[in-house]
Amino acid sequence: MVSGGQTHAKASAAVAAPGTFGARILDLADRLAKWSDSQDNLTCTYLTSAHRAVAGQLREWMREAGMTAEIDTVGNVVGRFAALDPGAKILIIGSHYDTVRNAGKYDGRLGILAALVVVEHLNAIGRRLPFNFEVIAFSEEEGVRFGTAYLGSSAVAGRFDRQVLERRDASGLSVAELIRSTGGNPDAIPALARQAQKLLGYLEVHIEQGPVLLQEKLPVGIVTAVAGSVRYLISIIGVSGHAGTVPMTARNDAAAAAAEIVLFAERRCRQAQGLVGTVGQLTVPNGAINVIPGRCELSLDIRADDVTKRDAAIADLFAEIEQIKKRRGVAIEVAEVQRTPTVACSPRMQGLLADAIVRAGIRPHYLPSGAGHDAVMFDGITDIGMLFVRCGNGGISHSPLESLTADDADVAARILLDVIMNFQE
Ligand SMILES: [Zn+2]
Repeated sequence: MVSGGQTHAKASAAVAAPGTFGARILDLADRLAKWSDSQDNLTCTYLTSAHRAVAGQLREWMREAGMTAEIDTVGNVVGRFAALDPGAKILIIGSHYDTVRNAGKYDGRLGILAALVVVEHLNAIGRRLPFNFEVIAFSEEEGVRFGTAYLGSSAVAGRFDRQVLERRDASGLSVAELIRSTGGNPDAIPALARQAQKLLGYLEVHIEQGPVLLQEKLPVGIVTAVAGSVRYLISIIGVSGHAGTVPMTARNDAAAAAAEIVLFAERRCRQAQGLVGTVGQLTVPNGAINVIPGRCELSLDIRADDVTKRDAAIADLFAEIEQIKKRRGVAIEVAEVQRTPTVACSPRMQGLLADAIVRAGIRPHYLPSGAGHDAVMFDGITDIGMLFVRCGNGGISHSPLESLTADDADVAARILLDVIMNFQE
């Protein structure tokens, strides 16, 4: 890991220089975290008053950093550090500023603030770029308020699903009504879509939300792919009976069959790196302590950085389920409830990140993302690159225990600056 490097004197209290990027990012994240939907913790969901205050603050900081900045109709804060040639292509750096309930301060916001301090620096030294550099703070990625994710980035990527406008929050308010209540116009959403031929690429800096970089003792890592998941709901129908009278050899126990599926999924997914499988829900409907389970329901989420790897595990799992059915005399129904594609990061963007990481004296480490990110919305539209930053506290995220050091934030911002300075069309 590198140290702070040559530390320049700060031009002013508000402008970061390499070596001071990290402290400034953490300070700005602390300031954003003061706005919350809840008095007890950090919760910032789509278009609440706290959420809109954060957007206003980001717009102000972007303008102070020499960008033109506006809040678009879905609440994205779009800052542009203009090239001398206004017709130049655009490099987008984005991440989201909404949070989950009881969140950490850096999920999403780190990526926005890292880009912001880089522009502050470029502006302070009077440097212009040969391309338009856009910093986009996406309004919604977590899906908390409306149960649907990527509201902000899907609009910019031209993938906004109009049906989402009809979705309602817990109070009965629809997305369309909410957007109108803030002065926005749902009919203007399609116009937010960018033209692919004008884009140079999309980059995102994000806290890892896992323990890999911590274990590798590395401040940053290069994301190879964002894993898509396949999700199933599985129902097992056995035969219920008296817990005391039915002999062990004469049972068709649905919960015991479920246990076999859980353990097989765990065993199989341990066999390949980048493959994960989770049973997050497991119930015996109407179960009782003295009744053999006649029915058991479970969920299964399988993800991998590679579709072939994932589908091979799924095929093995289905074969095992057939065996369990025969062995235990139970019926098993499997319903696929969601399938999202695995999105690869472009080799070119991975290479640009790796070059900058090597120049910083750090060993490049490649890892897949098990969680979804705004970057996936830009798949097929432009080249995607993602830089992960080490997450402290064992890798905990989506929690107030999420932690990030100023040193690691500094390294991330300096690598971003290096990538941008060396970016070639
Ligand atoms: Zn995030």
